[in-house]
Amino acid sequence: MERTLIILKPCTVQRGLIGEIISHFEKKGLILAGMKMAWLTDEILSEHYAHLKEKPFFQRVKDAMRNCPVVLCCWEGVDAVHVVRAMTGSTNGRNALPGTIRGDYSMSMQENIVHASDSPENAAIELKRFFDDKELYTYNPTLLPNLYANDEV
Ligand code: ADP
Repeated sequence: MERTLIILKPCTVQRGLIGEIISHFEKKGLILAGMKMAWLTDEILSEHYAHLKEKPFFQRVKDAMRNCPVVLCCWEGVDAVHVVRAMTGSTNGRNALPGTIRGDYSMSMQENIVHASDSPENAAIELKRFFDDKELYTYNPTLLPNLYANDEV
C-alpha cells in the first residue's frame, strides 16, 4: 500500500466542493488515512512550491493557497500516487481531460481544485511536511477483499 497527499485548495473550499471531491477518492476505493483543515503559511508554501520559486507567478500561487483554510488528506491504496495523479488530470483545468477532477471542475491553470503528490518520494516528503505521525491512521479496512484480489495487496 502507498500513501499520497491531496490538498483541497481554497477554490474548492470556497466553491463548496469539499464533499464532492472527497467522494471521488472514496468511490474509487482509496482508503482515508488522515484528514484535517489548516490555514497554510507563506513559509510552508515556499517549501511546498520551491520548484516554482523562479516563476513570475510564485507569490500569486502562494497567496491563492492562503485565501482561506485548505483541507489536507492522506489517501492510501496500491499505486495510490499514480492513481490519484491520473484522477487529478493535467495542471490547466481547461486542458485537463473530461472525467478527471480538474477536467470536470476547473477552468483555470491556478485555481485547479487539488494538489496531488507527483511521485512516491515526494508523497513521503509532503505527508511529513503537513501531517504529524499521530495524525495518520492505520486501521483494517473491512472492504479490502471487495477492493482487491489477495495477490494485489
Ligand atoms: P501540478 O499541481 O499539476 O503538479 P505544478 O507543480 O507545476 O503543477 O504547479 C503547482 C501549482 O502552481 C499548480 O497546481 C497551479 O495551481 C500553479 N501553477 C502552475 N503553473 C502555473 C501558471 N503558469 N500560472 C498560474 N499558476 C500556475
